[in-house]
Amino acid sequence: MAMSEIFDKLRGLQDILSERIKVEKEIEDIPRVLDNLEDVLARLKKGFIEKNQECEKVRASVGDLRNQLFEAESSREKAERSLGSSESFNMREYEILDRERRESADKELRFRKELQKEERRLLDLIEEIKHSTDLVEQQKQDISVRRQSIDEAVSTKQEQLVQLEEREQEISTGLDNDLLFKFDRIIRHKMGKGIVSIKGGVCTGCHMILPAQFANQVRKGEEIVFCPYCSRILYYEESDQNLTEVDYFDTEDAGSLADLDDLDDDEEDEIVNIDYEE
Ligand SMILES: [Zn+2]
Repeated sequence: MAMSEIFDKLRGLQDILSERIKVEKEIEDIPRVLDNLEDVLARLKKGFIEKNQECEKVRASVGDLRNQLFEAESSREKAERSLGSSESFNMREYEILDRERRESADKELRFRKELQKEERRLLDLIEEIKHSTDLVEQQKQDISVRRQSIDEAVSTKQEQLVQLEEREQEISTGLDNDLLFKFDRIIRHKMGKGIVSIKGGVCTGCHMILPAQFANQVRKGEEIVFCPYCSRILYYEESDQNLTEVDYFDTEDAGSLADLDDLDDDEEDEIVNIDYEE
């Protein structure tokens, strides 16, 4: 296959791969909108549980107050009955009974007030729990509706993905598997640009000045050449600047090989397959 045809295929493939990566990311991101709704649901459920716990406490307190009220009532009634009976008391006995009647009546009043307060609180809580239950149910329904539309969106994206993969297969026919693998990785790492031109001896992907022997090699177009700095595949493009042939092919000025140490990705070494010693 001619190099120009390989480059054309790679450029086409680049568009498809970039699109595929974008769609894959979208598929990953779509379900994230549910996270917020799930958080709200968790908070609502927590509120519901807390209200229920409080309700149980108030219910127990109402029970206690009813018992205490009953005891105070009985005690007051007993004292009243004794005082109203035909028995005769001395002063001391009368005072004891009368004090018991008054004290019991005071307690009775206090318990009754407290009981009324707690009963109102209990009714409020029961109402709040009902409301809380409605909110939880509503939220669950919202989530289920959202989940359905999310599933639909994801499956649409997955269909797109299948189509892209088919086109990818088609365009990749005849290209070396090793090259395809590297190209896929370059595109993923280099935000969608895997094949760039070399212009005036500069890589248009990373804007580094390339050793002249590189530019030379790229221009010859006899093999696939990777940029030693950004690992992208290079193809030759006529410069706008008026570089002379001599400038371009000046192999004396081969650029600093020390720059190669600046490679940031460990895999870049493996991708660069140029013999610098040439
Ligand atoms: Zn580069």
